[in-house]
Amino acid sequence: MKLLPIYGGIDAGVRPVAREQVHAAIGLGMRPSEIARQIGRALDDLAARCAPPACTRGCGWCCHQRVDVTAPEVFALSNHLRETLDRDALAALHARLGATASALAGLTSREHHLQRVRCALLDDAMGCIGYEARPLGCRRGHSLDAEVCRAVYDEPSRAVQVPADATLSWNTGALILGFREGYAHRERALDTYELNAALALALAVDLEPRWLAGEDVLGPARTHDAAEIARLLNPGG
Ligand code: SF4
Repeated sequence: MKLLPIYGGIDAGVRPVAREQVHAAIGLGMRPSEIARQIGRALDDLAARCAPPACTRGCGWCCHQRVDVTAPEVFALSNHLRETLDRDALAALHARLGATASALAGLTSREHHLQRVRCALLDDAMGCIGYEARPLGCRRGHSLDAEVCRAVYDEPSRAVQVPADATLSWNTGALILGFREGYAHRERALDTYELNAALALALAVDLEPRWLAGEDVLGPARTHDAAEIARLLNPGG
């Protein structure tokens, strides 16, 4: 019998539920962007049942670090931006994404953090222009004290632990693992990509059908392939 991948940790709570639901949704032909959208909504619902974080729209201290995204998240976000921005705003965003991706090329996530490279989706008022469709990592990341986030932004080399809610972190982490495992169990384990570089590729044209057909359409933005992620999540497995 073939063993299906389980990515380490405790297989409980929302994780097996998400895994089975994502597995079933793929079987029914649901588009990856729609699956990511529904997982994002479920993550927000979970977060709303935990201690309220200090994070608010317009507080973008944490939006100067690497965000790793999967293909379904990229397609959900690029679809949303194409639907909500006009042509000029899309062109300006596309130019910013390209410039940010170039600035980030070759940087480790630590170097990205130290250089405080700003996400191209952050507007002048420190708001996210793709907030409703932001990646899962952006939804999951939170802080119980925005002043600590500001201090980290002011001095990124300082080793400071941002205070977080353990229940929120555990449950949202479990949900994301279940999402990943649902894909892995359909023989489509997910790679990750740097957000700005992936979005620069996916914004102008809908790449989702080609990704579904097996093309490596986001390849130039890849940060980790699926096998590497499985090793990271399941050391010694
Ligand atoms: S996508 Fe939005 S929430 Fe995420 S880092 Fe960029 S600006 Fe911040």
